[in-house]
Amino acid sequence: MSRQIILTVPPRMWRQFRETLLSARQNGTEEVIGFLFCRQQHLSRRKRRLLANSWVVPMSDCYASQGIGGLALRQEFHLELLRRYAGTGMDIVHVHTHPGRFTPSFSGIDDVAERQYSRFLARLPGRPRLTSCVFDENLHVGSFRHWRPEGVVAKDRVVFSAQWLEGHSRRNRGSSVPERFDRQRVFGRGFHESLQSLRVGLVGCGGIGACFAEQLSRLGVRRWVLVDPDRLETSNLNRLPAATEQMVRENWPKVRYIDRLIHLSWPKGAEIRSVCDSIQSKMAQDDLARCDLLITATDNHYSRMLCQELALRLMKPLLCLGTQIEVSETDNSCRILSRITVPPLGGGWCLMCGDIISANLAALEMAPSQITDSVRAAGYVPGVAAPAVYWANSCCASLGVYVVHGTLCGLLDLTDGIDWVMEYGQKRWLQVSHEDTDDCFYCSAAKDRAKVGGNRLSVSLTT
Ligand SMILES: [Zn+2]
Ligand SMILES: [Zn+2]
Repeated sequence: MSRQIILTVPPRMWRQFRETLLSARQNGTEEVIGFLFCRQQHLSRRKRRLLANSWVVPMSDCYASQGIGGLALRQEFHLELLRRYAGTGMDIVHVHTHPGRFTPSFSGIDDVAERQYSRFLARLPGRPRLTSCVFDENLHVGSFRHWRPEGVVAKDRVVFSAQWLEGHSRRNRGSSVPERFDRQRVFGRGFHESLQSLRVGLVGCGGIGACFAEQLSRLGVRRWVLVDPDRLETSNLNRLPAATEQMVRENWPKVRYIDRLIHLSWPKGAEIRSVCDSIQSKMAQDDLARCDLLITATDNHYSRMLCQELALRLMKPLLCLGTQIEVSETDNSCRILSRITVPPLGGGWCLMCGDIISANLAALEMAPSQITDSVRAAGYVPGVAAPAVYWANSCCASLGVYVVHGTLCGLLDLTDGIDWVMEYGQKRWLQVSHEDTDDCFYCSAAKDRAKVGGNRLSVSLTT
């Protein structure tokens, strides 16, 4: 049985890994080698993901020989790798380069060395599996293969992904785009193919979620997972496009309403899973695990926190959308804000350590009622309907759609994440920058580092 294996490396990890690998050369274009250590995620019987968790690049003193025709690492280096990673349950990805700038093929020497290595790994605790990659001298294009433990190359197709959101190429610009997208032809066929194949998980189907789904489905996304436990109420009608009083009278779940909204754009061809439940439910999480992109647009901290945790665990791109209307009780002044946040894929900073949401408020939202009663007495009011207007939700959702459009078209680089705040009254658009944190409970690699003994380090051994 042949399977598809998607090797996912967060873009900033790939950037660091690639730069370190290139700097391990002493003169020119000699071959270099590095190792990625990956967690496995099973998607189905035929589909698996390898999620890069850490990497090691040997510096030149780790090589026994290093040239254009091949390379060999010192025994001490291999022992050091084993000491760090054997028994961690992670698979090993072996990356090396060949001279030249074209897509390289594996050599006969590669075949022999990798066959032995895959057999050797299969005898270690945790039986790590070997995936191997050979790249051109600049690490732009590569060939990939997966090894079976008995030392045979598997028929599995390995797909490499080191982007925030994986898209198709932009070749064949303009040709055979469906007529309904005639005015979007300029963005190329690859753009449309990417949108058509993208599965978007929308958590929160209220005012922002509805505008986002309406606009992104008009742009070309037809595959959705919708998650929201609530039903339509009369007070929602000021801001939900195409929602009716009849839907409210018939007590429609919000996911059903958005399903209808998407079908207006896609009478044929829509693929929608609606889960009228919270993101805590297993069904919701299983469906979201199959998505390529997660959107959180809910009205509470707790569900946004769960969404961020899910995105980190599954290494999925996350887009967080929110608006806020604050009215001052002293002078009656009013601030209206929208915030569009994309934390970097794979961690560095996240919604919690970036203070976009509050883990404390999230805990309060989930606390038993006697605790929330006492907190309410102290001034914090969870669950009270926040003010909301259509235009501010719509601006926020539009910018969110631009993030998807921009990244697929190469207009926007999300390698290090973004955090945009629009303050309408001040006519200001702020770009909030975040430092990476080493001690975030949620997103730091420090836990792994402690466990495996070294993460993101260029190991340099002297003998
Ligand atoms: Zn080779
Ligand atoms: Zn964090």
